[in-house]
Amino acid sequence: MKTVTLHPKREFSLQRRHPWVFSGAIAHIDGDPQKGGTVRVLSSDGTVLGVGAFSPESQIRIRMWCFEEREINAAFIAERLGAAIGGRATLLGENVTNAYRLVNAEADGLPGLVVDRYGDWLVCQFTTVGAERWKAEIVEALRALVPCEGIYERSDIDVREHEGLPPSTGVLAGGPPPDRVEIVEHGCRYRVDVREGHKTGFYLDQRDNRALVKRFANGCDVLNAFSYTGGFGIAAVAAGAASVTHVDISEPALALARENTTLNTCHAEASTFIQGNVFEVLRTFRDAGRSFDLIVLDPPKFADSRGSLMKATRGYKDINLLGMKLLRPGGLLATFSCSGVMTAEMFHKVVSDAAVDAKRDLQIIKRLQQSEDHPEGLCFAEGLYLKGLFCRL
Ligand code: SAH
Repeated sequence: MKTVTLHPKREFSLQRRHPWVFSGAIAHIDGDPQKGGTVRVLSSDGTVLGVGAFSPESQIRIRMWCFEEREINAAFIAERLGAAIGGRATLLGENVTNAYRLVNAEADGLPGLVVDRYGDWLVCQFTTVGAERWKAEIVEALRALVPCEGIYERSDIDVREHEGLPPSTGVLAGGPPPDRVEIVEHGCRYRVDVREGHKTGFYLDQRDNRALVKRFANGCDVLNAFSYTGGFGIAAVAAGAASVTHVDISEPALALARENTTLNTCHAEASTFIQGNVFEVLRTFRDAGRSFDLIVLDPPKFADSRGSLMKATRGYKDINLLGMKLLRPGGLLATFSCSGVMTAEMFHKVVSDAAVDAKRDLQIIKRLQQSEDHPEGLCFAEGLYLKGLFCRL
C-alpha cells in the first residue's frame, strides 16, 4: 500500500473523522498511487490516520474508507454494503415504499457510491475514481445482497469530470430496465424513467416531505412549482386537493406528471400542467391576481459552488417572495433548497428576507430535510444538502 503524509496541522479533519483530504494538505506521497488505488494516510509525525482512495485529478485528493489501518478488498466492500442495506430495513416501515436509497455515499462509509432501489431494479451512480475502482466487486456484492431483476448504471453526472472520469450508463447486471418502472410511495403510484430521468430517476430524497404535504393538502388549491414528474402534486391529489397546478420547464417531465396523475386519480381534470419558467409563471399569476392555499417551491440546485451563491440567493429570494404573495391567508408554503453550499442558516435568512420584502408574516411549522434513507454522516456536514421550511402565512 502506498503512503501519503500530511502537512503538520492538516491532520485535524481526519482526526475529526471527516472523510476528505484536500490536495493542499498533502506534504509527501511515497511512490505513485494508481487512480482509485488505496493509500495509507499518515500525520506529519507518522501516526496512521486511516486508509483512503487516491484521486490524482480531484482537489479532494483522498476519500477515506476508514480511520484505521485496514486492507480494502472485496470483503470490505461487501461488509460496508451489507451494513448500509441492513440499516434501511429498519428505517422504512412496512408499506411505506418500494423505492429508496440503499447506499448514500460518505454517510454509509462508501464515498462516491449511490445505490437506489426502484422495485425490482437497482440503479447505481459511481462519482469518484475510488468507487469506480471497485465497480465489479460492488455489483457482485449487490447481486448477492439484494434479489433484483437487474442493476443499471447512471453515472452521467457532472462531478465525474473533477475526477477525470467520462459519463457512463448501461446495464451492469441482469436485464435492461423497462422504459417505466412503477413504484409505490405512501400509497401513491409513480412511473419512473430510470434510464433518462433526473438523478437516478426520481427525487427519493423528498419522500418524507411529500408525505407531509399530503397531510395538509385536503381541499386545497395547490401550486406545485418545479413539479418534475408530479411528486408533491400527486401526493396532494391523493389527499383530496381541490386543484393542483404543476409548473415545470421540461416537457418530458410534465408528460410523465400527466401519466402519473391518471394513474392515481379519476379526477384528472383537477390537475393543470403548465410548461414554463417558474420565475415568469409566478409573475403572470401575481399580475392575474391568482392565489393558492398550498405552494411547493422545489427548484433545482441554483448554486453548485461558493462562487455562485450570490446569484443563487437572488433566485431563491425571488421565487419565495413571489410565492408568499400568491398565498391566501392561512396558506402553507413548503420551500426548499438542494444546494449543498447553501447552509440551513443561509436558506432561512433568504426566505425571511423574502418575507420582509413581501411584507408578509409567516410562522415556521417545521424545518425540513432529506428523507431518512439519505442519512448525513455525523462528522460530515456536507452530507446535508436538502433543506426546507414548511411555513404558514
Ligand atoms: N419536486 C420534484 C423535484 C423537482 S426537481 C419532485 O418531488 O419530484 C426540479 C425541477 O425543476 C426539474 O423538473 C426541472 O425541469 C425544473 N426546472 C428547472 N428550472 C426551472 C425553471 N426555471 N422553471 C421551471 N422549472 C424548472
